Amino acid sequence: MIMKGVDPVPINFTLPKMKCKEEGCNHVWFARKNGEITNCPRCRSTNWNHGVKVFVTIPTVTCPKCKHVFSPRKENIRECRICKQQLINKGKKGNKK
Ligand SMILES: [Zn+2]
Ligand SMILES: [Zn+2]
Repeated sequence: MIMKGVDPVPINFTLPKMKCKEEGCNHVWFARKNGEITNCPRCRSTNWNHGVKVFVTIPTVTCPKCKHVFSPRKENIRECRICKQQLINKGKKGNKK
């Protein structure tokens, strides 16, 4: 791995994770936008959570180097898209109960 002499800077976030409760689906996914989760992206069921409404807020991350603010699409992001600063997410599962 090429480090370019720059150590990864720790950031901290967790993405809202959904799990479809429809039988035979059990799809797990990360929410992509704020608001109500209306259906499962895999089976399209609107009853994915057995009628329980779920509202999510996507976290935003500020790059420690260039202060660029962005919404991560995945938890294991490796670098800032703008300044290419290497980042490491410390907020991955296990941190929170
Ligand atoms: Zn589903
Ligand atoms: Zn940056």
